[in-house]
Amino acid sequence: MKEFWSDRIRDAVPYVPGEQPRDRKFVKLNTNECPYPPSPRALEAIRAAADSSLRLYPDPECLSLRRAIAAREGLREDQVFCSNGSDEVLAFAFQAFFNPEREIVFPRITYSFYPVYTNYFGLTCRRVPMNPDFSDPIDALCGGNGGVVLCNPNAPTGIAVELDVVEKLLQANPEVVVIVDEAYVDFGAQSAVPLIRKYPNLLVVQTASKSRALAGLRVGWAMGNENLIAALRCVRDSINSYTVDRLAMAGAQAAIEDEEYFQSLRSRVMATRAWTAKALKEMGFTVLDSRANFLFAAHPGMGGRELLDALRQRGILVRWWNDEPIRDWLRITVGTDGEMEELMRALREILG
Ligand SMILES: *Cc1c(COP(=O)(O)O)cnc(C)c1O
Repeated sequence: MKEFWSDRIRDAVPYVPGEQPRDRKFVKLNTNECPYPPSPRALEAIRAAADSSLRLYPDPECLSLRRAIAAREGLREDQVFCSNGSDEVLAFAFQAFFNPEREIVFPRITYSFYPVYTNYFGLTCRRVPMNPDFSDPIDALCGGNGGVVLCNPNAPTGIAVELDVVEKLLQANPEVVVIVDEAYVDFGAQSAVPLIRKYPNLLVVQTASKSRALAGLRVGWAMGNENLIAALRCVRDSINSYTVDRLAMAGAQAAIEDEEYFQSLRSRVMATRAWTAKALKEMGFTVLDSRANFLFAAHPGMGGRELLDALRQRGILVRWWNDEPIRDWLRITVGTDGEMEELMRALREILG
């Protein structure tokens, strides 16, 4: 029953987030959260910010946080935009840069929020089939489109492209905006931030949710030419000026400034990823070369859905999509070493 629903949402197909179980304890390898806690300095900053100043609205321009990001990335603060998670940044960007008359393009297998935004904002898209090895179909994203969205490393494949490939995309699409979603870039890929100086059509989007272990805080940011950043502010201020709250701003800034802790988080995740990929291959899995905090794997002896269910029965959650080209694949978040050992035990049991 959709009585009273607007036309816009009556036909909307929303994004389906990974399960956040409330009833029982699972080994959670389904939503690419960090298995380690956030920086102690971030937690301290959040506690310190929880004072009487909460009666006041936060800084709508997030100046202090933007300065911290700009300083780390070698940008000016007018080249940085912060908001309530990078999903929101992406939603603003789709509204700021794309028009319905010209199709935006992105790979057929990528972050499933892109087609959701496309439809919800009344845009049109062309989803380009993957190369046979699941790498990004870059040539088909070059020209003849109204904008490009590239997730690098891609989700859920984990495959990354090198910087010269991103540059090729920017050169081939000079009249439209190219969004590079770098939610997972810190786990071993190259960031496109150094290209911002050269390409006024590049928007790089990052998040505190994955490599800074702050998914619960909801902070994401975009970096690009000041003209693109101004457009994002225009969209935001047409909807909600105060998207980042005081606690989130304080925590995210402290996390970004704690470089040493950040480096230890990413290297621990990458080390666990390396041995887990090897162990999965030894069990007969095909595992794609991941530069992210997850692995994308398939086993010739069992379908994805069966594996998903069998793991769930053993208390382990992973992600699976009922989508033809990847129906036999599972996306497995890299957890702690202990959690991955538990995964191996369960898989040995399941596969005999
Ligand atoms: C997790 C994720 C995001 C969203 O991150 P938030 O900042 O938590 O909203 C964006 N893009 C991709 C590809 C992701 O996997």
